[in-house]
Amino acid sequence: MRSFTHFDANSIEEACEILDEYKGKAFLNAGGSDLLSILKGDLLPNYPDAIVNIKTITGLDYIKEENGFLKLGALVRLDDIVRSSLLNDNYRILKEAALTVATPQVRNVATIGGNLCQDTRCWYYRYPESIGGPLNCLRKGGSRCFAVKGDNRYHAIMGGKKCFAVCPSDMAVALTALEGKLIISGPKGERSMAVADFFHPLGNDLSFNEIIREIEIPACNFSSKQTFLKFTLRKPVDFAIVSVASIMRVEEGVCADARIALGAVAPFPVRAERAEKLLLGKPVSEGIAAAAAEESLAGSKPLSGNAYKVQIAKTLVKRAIMGSNN
Ligand SMILES: Cc1cc2nc3c(=O)[nH]c(=O)nc-3n(C[C@H](O)[C@H](O)[C@H](O)COP(=O)(O)OP(=O)(O)OC[C@H]3O[C@@H](n4cnc5c(N)ncnc54)[C@H](O)[C@@H]3O)c2cc1C
Ligand code: SF4
Repeated sequence: MRSFTHFDANSIEEACEILDEYKGKAFLNAGGSDLLSILKGDLLPNYPDAIVNIKTITGLDYIKEENGFLKLGALVRLDDIVRSSLLNDNYRILKEAALTVATPQVRNVATIGGNLCQDTRCWYYRYPESIGGPLNCLRKGGSRCFAVKGDNRYHAIMGGKKCFAVCPSDMAVALTALEGKLIISGPKGERSMAVADFFHPLGNDLSFNEIIREIEIPACNFSSKQTFLKFTLRKPVDFAIVSVASIMRVEEGVCADARIALGAVAPFPVRAERAEKLLLGKPVSEGIAAAAAEESLAGSKPLSGNAYKVQIAKTLVKRAIMGSNN
C-alpha cells in the first residue's frame, strides 16, 4: 500500500467536508472489505491522498421501523441484517440476500452502504499487478472495454453501454424488489433516490463529496412470499452468476401482487416489470411462470460468451414464482 492521510470522521457532515476539501482525492472507508483490496492491489489509476473512516460515526448502525418505513443506517453490517428479528417477516428477503454474501467473517465487517457502493468485480478491471496488471479499461478512463472481444462469460446480458460489468451487489437486488430508497448526504444537504436508479453504466450516482446515510424501505404490509435465489459457480462463497429477488402475494392460487428483480444480468439490478404485469390476476401455474420468465429476459442481448446466463435467469425466475405458490 502507498501512504495516505487518514481521518476518523465523527459525523456525516465532517466526512462530507473532508471529501469536499480533497475534491475526489479522498475515499470513504466503512468495513474496508472491498476498498482495502483495491488499494492493496493498486488497481485504480488514481490512488487516494486521504482515507476517511466512517466507522467512527456513532449511531449510524440502526435498523428500525418509523413513520411507515423500515430504516437502515448505512453502517448496518450484513451480519446485523442476518441476525435482526425485525426482519423476520415482512423484510426477510434482506436476510436471505445477506446470508448469500461472502463468509461470516466478511459479513461481520461489511456494511450495507459499502455493499451498494462496492466496485465492479470485472476480471479485467481487477487484473492484478502481480500478473501484469493493472489494465486501464474504459471504466478507468481508458479507451476500450476488454470484455467486448475478450472473455465475457460473467458479464452483462442486458443494459450494457460502454461497460458490460454487472452490478455485484446482492443487497441491491433485494432492495430493488422492496422498492428501497437511498438517503444521500452531501455539502448541499440531502437528497433521495431509488436504489434501482442508483447504478450508472460506469459507476453510481454519488458525487465525490456525497455519502449514503440511510436506506429506507416502504412498509411491506401485504403478507407475501419473499424469495432470494442466487446461482453461483463456487459454493458457498461466490458472487452471483444470476440472482433473483421476488416478492409475491398469491391468494387462492391467483397472483395478487408481484415484484421481481434480477441481479448480475446488467450493470444495475433489473426490475422485471413486464413479467410482473403478466402475472397479475393470473392463477399461478408452470405455464404462466414460464411465460413470465420469458418476459423477464425479453430485452436480453448476450455477448459472445454468456448466452448461458439467459437460461439460468429464466430458470431462477420460474422457480421463484412457483415457490411463491407453496
Ligand atoms: C471474499 C468476498 C466475497 C464476497 N462475496 C460477495 C457476494 O457474494 N455478494 C455481494 O453482494 N458482495 C460480496 N462481496 C463484497 C462485499 O459485500 C463488500 O466488500 C462489502 O459489502 C463492502 O462493504 P464495506 O463496508 O466493507 O465497504 P468498503 O470496502 O469500506 O467500501 C466499499 C466502497 O463503498 C464506499 N462506501 C462505503 N460506505 C459508503 C457510504 N455509506 N456512502 C458512500 N460510499 C460508501 C467506499 O468508499 C468504497 O468505495 C464479497 C467480498 C469478499 C471479500
Ligand atoms: S466490462 Fe467495464 S470494467 Fe470490465 S473491462 Fe469493460 S469497461 Fe472495464
